[in-house]
Amino acid sequence: MLTVAIASEFHAYDGELYRYLLERVLGTPVQAWKSEIEFNGCKHVRKQAGLYLNAAAQQGVRHALVAIDNDGGSTHGLPHHPSHDSAQECANERGCRVCWLHSTIPTSWREDPYRSCVVVPVQTLETWLLIAKGHAFTEPSPEQRYHRPVLKKDCFGKPLPSSRDQKRMALDCLQHPEAIKRLSARPSFQAFVDQVNAWKG
Ligand SMILES: [Zn+2]
Ligand SMILES: [Zn+2]
Repeated sequence: MLTVAIASEFHAYDGELYRYLLERVLGTPVQAWKSEIEFNGCKHVRKQAGLYLNAAAQQGVRHALVAIDNDGGSTHGLPHHPSHDSAQECANERGCRVCWLHSTIPTSWREDPYRSCVVVPVQTLETWLLIAKGHAFTEPSPEQRYHRPVLKKDCFGKPLPSSRDQKRMALDCLQHPEAIKRLSARPSFQAFVDQVNAWKG
């Protein structure tokens, strides 16, 4: 059983979905490291992830996933590009969230035997869920659907079910036999898979 410190917006929902995806990509059982530190939204993850990872390391954890939604719109939160100037993106309230999260990884976590990955679904985790279940997007690409309430409604219907039911429905989406194949066509998911595959080396 691999223990992974998962810093995500809401441990019981996002955290559980990332744990499941790690299992699928790694092909091995994964458990989330348990901590008293609780996250509540993306700003909180950005602020606390470093602390969280250092605490995990002290308890012998060597694998970590740090994730927030892109939550972008047509005017900001554009996807990460290798040419990004990290300092510039981090100083910008509407800067690249991949750059933000990379900057939260403590120096000690950047070396062997530590393994980490930074995940920013574009636009949100619900986009990934809809892709996984083969939703017919009306936009030219799924990443161009920005409105979070619409994404949630498409995923879970209206009125929104309890958070427990939302998690169950979300896991159902990800368990679709074609889910990983469908998701692999999306750059933000492939970036996640590439990092996790590098853990195996
Ligand atoms: Zn957020
Ligand atoms: Zn970037």
